[in-house]
Amino acid sequence: MNDFNKTIPGGPDRYEAYRRLGISDKVLSFADTVLQGLDKEFARVDAVAEVNQARVIAAMQKNRVNVTHFNPSTGYGNDDEGRETLEQVYADCFHAESALVRPQITCGTHALYLALSANLLPGDELLSPVGAPYDTLEEVIGIRPSVGSLAEYGVTYRQADLLPDGSFDYDAIRAAINEKTKLITIQRSKGYATRPSFSVAQLGQLIAFCKQCKPDVICMVDNCYGEFTETADPTDVGADMIVGSLIKNPGGGLATTGGYICGRKDLIDRCACRLSAPGVGREVGANMGLLQSFYQGFFLAPTVVQSAIKGAIFAAGCYEKLGFRVVPGSREERHDIIQAIELGSREAMIAFCRGIQAAAPVDSYATPVPSPMAGYESEVIMAAGAFNQGSSIELSADGPIRAPYAVYFQGGLTWYHAKLGVMMSLQKMLEAGLIQL
Ligand SMILES: *Cc1c(COP(=O)(O)O)cnc(C)c1O
Repeated sequence: MNDFNKTIPGGPDRYEAYRRLGISDKVLSFADTVLQGLDKEFARVDAVAEVNQARVIAAMQKNRVNVTHFNPSTGYGNDDEGRETLEQVYADCFHAESALVRPQITCGTHALYLALSANLLPGDELLSPVGAPYDTLEEVIGIRPSVGSLAEYGVTYRQADLLPDGSFDYDAIRAAINEKTKLITIQRSKGYATRPSFSVAQLGQLIAFCKQCKPDVICMVDNCYGEFTETADPTDVGADMIVGSLIKNPGGGLATTGGYICGRKDLIDRCACRLSAPGVGREVGANMGLLQSFYQGFFLAPTVVQSAIKGAIFAAGCYEKLGFRVVPGSREERHDIIQAIELGSREAMIAFCRGIQAAAPVDSYATPVPSPMAGYESEVIMAAGAFNQGSSIELSADGPIRAPYAVYFQGGLTWYHAKLGVMMSLQKMLEAGLIQL
């Protein structure tokens, strides 16, 4: 045993502490071995978090954030200084002209629909140059017919798929851009696919190419899960709008609901008019007492993302050592907090998710089962024992039950919780006879 495993008088040692949670000595030893090889990767993650913590603090100081900014507002929420200051903090941190950060934006899908529907008019065309978008956007766009879709409003859609190696198909993109192309939507994170996620540098190249083909085209990045994974953002490399959810990275685990859109002022103003009403725009929107959690969550977000990425790297390290295909690999650079693990069977997906659930601080006794879910085409299994319902910056795992039976593992407000979740997944896989250690 290493020194750090020595018993401290009166307290359990590491093995005993984990045994009490149901983790066998075998799993902990395996975890220790995997972690010994990940020092360099963890140091890189620490360096990114340090820079991002400084960026967030600088934006808050520049805007002279003070305690009155946390005051609740009700009704119309006119002259809500706390809300306006928070939006300026987001805009400054992401080097954008303007931002909309609101509890009235109910989720990431809503934020994306808002940004699209506010900036696309009948006769316009939307292009995705990175293949199929996130599952829930299929109904937003109207790829799968749905009430209120962009297609119903006369907005057409085109898609250029990625090349087999996951890179951009520039010829196909050039061919897809035409006189109707108004807005280009680029999903940064892999979502429920096993393609790689894109770096900010790659997004910059893609945006530059699209603007070369059509200078006035609007480039929007679905930034979900990407915030604070790098020290630059898509807005630094030409994105006109970035869009995300507050129950993912930028909410830092504290924001209880909400979404954001940052970018060019004229585009964000249109989003505000769409969210409330023309003429009213961004002037209304009560904060309902949520602002402190938004500020404080944004302050914590860089270190929460750091914990989540460490959990993802650790998961990749464990499962690649066991012979599973993982995207990305434990030594690859990270551009989002998602770890895909191809488990190859329905049974393994269930065992993995049961492990994540059993490690949770909330609802640890629940048993995840595959079930149909609104917005998704296949059955989905989800594990989450979160303080905020559905929050995926908190430790969670999910995936559609379809080949290649990949689970998407993400989140972890603390590194030690993320670590416990991964070890518990190994424990359940071991107990089900699906792996050997
Ligand atoms: C989560 C996510 C969305 C949708 O966000 P919801 O909050 O689940 O509606 C869209 N795009 C990507 C890439 C996401 O990860």
